[in-house]
Amino acid sequence: MHEWVLKVPRAKAKTTIWFCQSPLFATHLPELIATHQGPCAIITDATLKKLYAKQLQGLDAKVFSIPSGETAKTRETKAYLEDLLLSHHLGRDTLLIGLGGGVICDIVGFVAATYCRGVSLVLIPTTLLAMVDAAIGGKTGVNTPYGKNTIGSFYFPDQVLIDPSFLQTLPKQELRNGLVEVIKYSLIASKPLFVQLQKHINGFASLDVAWIKHLIQKSIRIKGKDIREDPFEQKGRRRILNYGHTIGHALEKLEEYRMPHGQAVAIGMMAAAFMSCEMGFLRFEQLEEIQALFQQYDIPLKLKKTHPIDAFLTGFALDKKAVKGSVRFVLLKEIGAAHPFEGEYCTEVPFPILEKALAWMNR
Ligand code: ADP
Ligand code: ZN
Repeated sequence: MHEWVLKVPRAKAKTTIWFCQSPLFATHLPELIATHQGPCAIITDATLKKLYAKQLQGLDAKVFSIPSGETAKTRETKAYLEDLLLSHHLGRDTLLIGLGGGVICDIVGFVAATYCRGVSLVLIPTTLLAMVDAAIGGKTGVNTPYGKNTIGSFYFPDQVLIDPSFLQTLPKQELRNGLVEVIKYSLIASKPLFVQLQKHINGFASLDVAWIKHLIQKSIRIKGKDIREDPFEQKGRRRILNYGHTIGHALEKLEEYRMPHGQAVAIGMMAAAFMSCEMGFLRFEQLEEIQALFQQYDIPLKLKKTHPIDAFLTGFALDKKAVKGSVRFVLLKEIGAAHPFEGEYCTEVPFPILEKALAWMNR
């Protein structure tokens, strides 16, 4: 197993991220359970519980599950899980193990943060999106009718176990969702990664383990660096991870969460790249290069139905980068670098440019 430690001194947190080289269910997980001094509870979702039923059976841990999908990521589900754990008399010495995609990582993280005022947490991400994003960086939370992740906390897992073999059962659409986030890391922080993504299309299509592992490690290093600098999203640096998400989140909400996160963010990233061009930072050829990369990976950039500009503006209201009600965007200086804007890493965009970008996106 390869090990990488993410130390976040200001958050008084240390997460050890492991890349499993041998089967997780046969070695690492039983070892983890055996070495923990107290009871272990694995929380997963219905799909994974079924897919990995055999592997889960042999473990010395209680296994609980919630329905699959984003609609289960609610306060009600959190309360259900808490009551379930309490009814099994699980105390402060419990180790909670979240096994699943972003939904599981977010909600189990949030349960761990408040259960008995905080218990040990290990995350085992099973989607590419969760491996490169949700499991890393200590963000936890649930959705409410007012928006996604509107209630939550920062709570860092003690360990994250990454086993790329989970991706073999993951539907292609879900895989593409994760890839969008990898493309995001390349756009904001690594031109070499962007070039590699352009060259190795086949590595992704064939799920080449070495290549996928490289993508995951590279993404985690980029995210880890920003988290170390700005663990609680206060200074600015962590904001760059939000690239494409201002418009992406608004779009997801307008589409009533039926559009996959990856697709919404891909469209949001294109619109933000367009604004970066209009503001005079990014060159037009680079915008075309970004678009071509999404197309190479079959990531759809077209909206099936258009949304009025006003609807987007309302959608921006809850964006965390907004100051005094005015929305701000992360923009690109070039492929591989977000514009620093004097350490703010985001900026207001003149209304005519925003309007033009939304119209361009709706085209
Ligand atoms: P994400 O990581 O994309 O935020 P979810 O937690 O909603 O999202 O997972 C997306 C879907 O993929 C869910 O239906 C989940 O049950 C399913 N899933 C997660 N991991 C796997 C896997 N390794 N194999 C098959 N299906 C999976
Ligand atoms: Zn995202």
